Amino acid sequence: MLVIPRKLLEEMLEHARRCAPQEACGVIAGERRGGRGIARAVYRCRNVSSMPEVRYTIAPEDLVRALDDVEKKGMEVLGFYHSHPHGGVLPSAIDSARASWHGASYVIVNLRGEAAAWLWDEEAGRFRRERLLVVEEGAHHGVEDEHEGDGNRQKAPQGEEG
Ligand SMILES: [Zn+2]
Repeated sequence: MLVIPRKLLEEMLEHARRCAPQEACGVIAGERRGGRGIARAVYRCRNVSSMPEVRYTIAPEDLVRALDDVEKKGMEVLGFYHSHPHGGVLPSAIDSARASWHGASYVIVNLRGEAAAWLWDEEAGRFRRERLLVVEEGAHHGVEDEHEGDGNRQKAPQGEEG
C-alpha cells in the first residue's frame, strides 16, 4: 500500500497539468512502515525523453539531486510518478518495458485528476496494482480510517501511451 497525503497528490496533478501535453515525471520519497509506503515528499523532475508527449525519461541530474535530498532528510525512495496527459492511469507497454526498480511504486496520474499506483514485480516482469490511499492533511496516524482516493477505480486498458 502506498499512502499519499492529498497535498502531495495535488502537487503531482498540478505538475501534470503544467507539463501537458508532455508527460510530467518525478520521484516519490518517504518512509516504509510495516510493508506500507508513506509518502512525505515528491520531487518534480524534467522529462528529457525525445518523445516527451508519449513517454518519459527522468533527467539524470534531477534524479541525482532528488536522491541526495532524500538521503539528507533520512527518507527513502518509494517510487516514481508520471502523467498520462492523453489517457488513463494504467501502465502502458512502454512503462512495463522500462520499469526497473523492483518493489518500487509507480504512480500514474492524468489530467482528469485520477491516480493509480503500480508495483513493479521484476520476477513476474509486470506491474501489479498497488492500493493507493490518499489521506487528508495531518492524518498520518490511523490511516486505516481514511477513505480511498479516486485512484483505485478500475480503468479500461490503454493504448500505447507511455
Ligand atoms: Zn506511462
